[in-house]
Amino acid sequence: MDLDSSELLFRMSLTLFEKIINKEIPAEIIYEDEISIVIEDINPQAPTHLLIIPKKVIPKLSDASNEDQEILGHLMLVAGKIADQLGLDETFRLVVNNGAKAGQSVFHLHLHLISGRPFNWPPG
Ligand code: AMP
Repeated sequence: MDLDSSELLFRMSLTLFEKIINKEIPAEIIYEDEISIVIEDINPQAPTHLLIIPKKVIPKLSDASNEDQEILGHLMLVAGKIADQLGLDETFRLVVNNGAKAGQSVFHLHLHLISGRPFNWPPG
């Protein structure tokens, strides 16, 4: 496997999100179940900016395998339910940055759920 150096560094210890899942690092937890946790992003890019994170460490989406199908589906369903509960008016964007060159900085899969401002297309 060809690992980016920043990704390699991350894989040598617990991921930041594992520490949040383990409650070793504080976070604003919006929702949690046996498969996932949803937290507020510490550096929000929109009035609502949440991270939907699987408890299983999948470093990035392209590392997921068939056995992760239920987890991946679960994350999408949680996104929809949280958006509904927060009254986001069915207007939000989900983003997955896959790999350092695509902007991924934490190598533990997560969906960004962002809402509350206009979004451009194509994205930057
Ligand atoms: P990405 O760049 O796609 O890997 O997204 C990682 C996200 O994690 C960024 O939007 C960061 O702002 C966010 N982040 C980093 N540290 C924390 C933290 N301690 N609590 C919540 N969000 C964080």
